[in-house]
Amino acid sequence: MSQTFTSKGLYDALVQAGHIIPVGVKGVFGRGPVFEDVLDRFEQLVSRIAAPDKARKMHFPPCIDRQVLEQSLFLESFPHLGGTIFSFTGDDAGHRELNTRIAQGKPWADLQTMTDVCLTPAACYPVYPTYTGTLPNDGALVDLVGWAFRHEPSDEPTRMMAFRVREFIRLGPSDVVVPWRDLWLQRGLELLLSLGLPAKAEVAADPFFGRGGRMLAANQREQKLKFEVVVPVISHEKPTAVCSFNYHQDKFGSTFGIRTKDGKVAETACLGFGLERVVMALFRTHGMSPGAWPKSVREVLWT
Ligand code: ZN
Repeated sequence: MSQTFTSKGLYDALVQAGHIIPVGVKGVFGRGPVFEDVLDRFEQLVSRIAAPDKARKMHFPPCIDRQVLEQSLFLESFPHLGGTIFSFTGDDAGHRELNTRIAQGKPWADLQTMTDVCLTPAACYPVYPTYTGTLPNDGALVDLVGWAFRHEPSDEPTRMMAFRVREFIRLGPSDVVVPWRDLWLQRGLELLLSLGLPAKAEVAADPFFGRGGRMLAANQREQKLKFEVVVPVISHEKPTAVCSFNYHQDKFGSTFGIRTKDGKVAETACLGFGLERVVMALFRTHGMSPGAWPKSVREVLWT
């Protein structure tokens, strides 16, 4: 097991077992059938636990209105992680030039035009603008699974450029949103512990860009706005976040004009399970063959 306890060791073991399929770009790979089966079963487990909450299911494509990204100030905090979509909008002459440059291996980015869409940087971003206006009495609760993109190419298998997140999003007054976040922090931790994962919760911060970002991160930690549940996957010293809990206060409520029944700006919080990371944590902890996992873990997932 110890050889899998490094970045390269885990990557090689996952490839050898057919769980991930290299495609030639760092941070991007395919997923094999057993990987997807475990991921589906974990999602079903989350659904069973969340069922009594009766959240509203939503689903969005992996791209988002560029204006939503701009209004959310994502690029102010994380310019290095965003993925903006460009496309060709030229004429026949421009098209010939494009083909020529590609054939000659020359740069062709200047022949592309920025489109109205970006890759979704966090699965919950499309949700907030759909709630512009006044929320019902008890606020709103959304359940979704979506792809997120972060431009951070890496050889480290848990640091993917594109990954799926199962998210729940709560919108409402703060006396509803904060206790909901605390309830899920406990639930999320218990859920991961029930799978035999050595999980623990800790205060965390986002990877804000630049010198100003260090202050933002310190502020976020001080106010305990972000928690993560972490599991050792490629290192004991730096365990991997498999679930994160974010309290946005009134950031999205004020940006997108979301109000509570009594006219106040709504607060929001979200929590997300990084689905690929959970699956990798399971392979890392229990071995590459689910058939040989402890009975207690199999009973939770294969019910
Ligand atoms: Zn979120």
